[in-house]
Amino acid sequence: MFQVRVEDNFAAAHYLVHYHGKCENLHGHNYKVRVFAEGSELDEGGMLLDFGILKKTLKMVLDRIDHSLLNENEHFTEREPSAELIAFHIYKSLKAELPDSPISRVEVFETEINMAAYIPD
Ligand SMILES: [Zn+2]
Repeated sequence: MFQVRVEDNFAAAHYLVHYHGKCENLHGHNYKVRVFAEGSELDEGGMLLDFGILKKTLKMVLDRIDHSLLNENEHFTEREPSAELIAFHIYKSLKAELPDSPISRVEVFETEINMAAYIPD
């Protein structure tokens, strides 16, 4: 099995209505996002996938939510923009753009030490 990882960042604000504590209030994060892909098949160039395409697509997906209030984003009107659901949103957005890519994990860091991941079944 081979695994590759790309990483990017975005800044956004959110508030968590169902959380009782400091995160109920409007605040922001400099989110770090890590996207992993894995598989055992390599292309003729010896690569699992094209890093450049994955990086460019991740940047495009993150640009849509960068410097925004996530609660006002159409993807988070029904459920709150928790780190878990942001990871799920990023995964779905990447798969919509790159349906054949073997994305295996999306991590969203709210801080250097707090991270939530979405791992497809
Ligand atoms: Zn927060």
